[in-house]
Amino acid sequence: MEEKQNYHMSSAEFRQWGYKTIDWIADYLENVEKLPVLSQVEPGDIRAKLPKTAPQQGESFAEIFKDIDEIIVPGLTNWQSPNFFAFFPTGISAPSILGELLSAGLGIQGMLWATSPACTELETHVLDWLVDMLELPSHFKSSETGGGVIQDSASSASLVALVAAREQTTADISKLVAYTSTQAHSSIEKGCKIAGLSSDNLRLIEVDANYAMRPDALQQCIETDIAAGLTPFYLAATVGTTSSNAIDPLPELGAIAQKYNIWFHVDGAMSGTAALCPEYRWIHQGLELADSYCFNPHKWMLTSFDCTCFYVRDRTKLIQSLSIVPEYLKNQASESGAVIDYRDWQIPLGRRFRSLKLWFVIRHYGIEGLQHYVRKHIALAQEFAEWVKSDPRFELAVNPPLNLVCFRHKGGDRINQTIVNSLNSSGKIYLTSTKLDQKVTLRMSIGQATTEKLNVLQAWELICQTADAN
Ligand code: PLP
Repeated sequence: MEEKQNYHMSSAEFRQWGYKTIDWIADYLENVEKLPVLSQVEPGDIRAKLPKTAPQQGESFAEIFKDIDEIIVPGLTNWQSPNFFAFFPTGISAPSILGELLSAGLGIQGMLWATSPACTELETHVLDWLVDMLELPSHFKSSETGGGVIQDSASSASLVALVAAREQTTADISKLVAYTSTQAHSSIEKGCKIAGLSSDNLRLIEVDANYAMRPDALQQCIETDIAAGLTPFYLAATVGTTSSNAIDPLPELGAIAQKYNIWFHVDGAMSGTAALCPEYRWIHQGLELADSYCFNPHKWMLTSFDCTCFYVRDRTKLIQSLSIVPEYLKNQASESGAVIDYRDWQIPLGRRFRSLKLWFVIRHYGIEGLQHYVRKHIALAQEFAEWVKSDPRFELAVNPPLNLVCFRHKGGDRINQTIVNSLNSSGKIYLTSTKLDQKVTLRMSIGQATTEKLNVLQAWELICQTADAN
């Protein structure tokens, strides 16, 4: 048999299936509300429908695509449903999807400026735009001492900040101490592990009644560590904690970090986006004291995962910590010193053209459009909180500062857990729980791109009915 010479999809087929794929995505997004929010499959269900081995001969795209509907869709938890209130939003939008598609179509790899100057320069430019859009401290701009870079996740951003902080000290790693609050995201602890710090070298600082880090407790802990011959080197504060959306007091924490010469990182993963609106910029009060900061457009700024914006006050510290120049990466542009090579700002070498989607989102919506959704989600969350407050069966765990409402049924842990489990298995809405003060607490996170008041109202009615039935 003669060997086939070309296995590629033809350009005509690519167009055909490309158009079909966009149609499929548009249909999916139009109809996603009708699907169960939390996937209802059992473990192993999806694999059981897949062939045991890969095909020897290529298959038609029609056959492949059929399996999307039949095998893949039932195994999706539909994050883009307007009835998704779990974890945190992962907002997408049409411009963002198109940006991702274009990035895939270009297939470039932007590890060095020279490997696609547009990839680097657009990223620098859009991240500078965001400094103005959120009114972040101007030292985060590339025209000053700092600069911004897109990381895959807030976890990577806090790890990279930690490594840069570690490189500023001369103390033995066993003597270094990092600080964060008991409410910080688990990625801070994970970052410490990856960077070689043992769990004995991380202090989880107590929080106040609003679950925000207590500066007095931090100061005391630092003093005790110094007296024991240890070296405090890294403090990670949070703007909008995962469990309860607490905003750590940055001015006080930043002042302590300065006093003891500690790297001050601020994690604004979801909530940072609120600063698009002038009336919510108070969340960043004190950010001028930070050495590094990140927030995730892939959570609440209508940009597809992955897209974390990470800023540093002093880019030379970051670059010196991460830069290694093997012979095979040397090139004239890098050696001229006139360009940014973002490979030195992150963990991997390679990088995708992620700024395209961010650029598309910002240009399509404009600042005004993006502000509209932040305001809408916060208003919906505040209204939901009022319903909770005025219902004798429920209580707020804490007053919601922005778009996350933490509340519970007054009947105790068992009923709260039952409410979450039975709501989620209904497929009608999806919400998650946490523990605050050791009590099971329900989290209503409002921020999906298409969530309307009716969705929130229906969710509240379902919560009340489920509570009554249990
Ligand atoms: N930090 C905070 C405050 C978060 O809420 C989250 C996610 O829930 C993260 C970090 C981790 O985000 P990523 O998935 O971007 O690493």
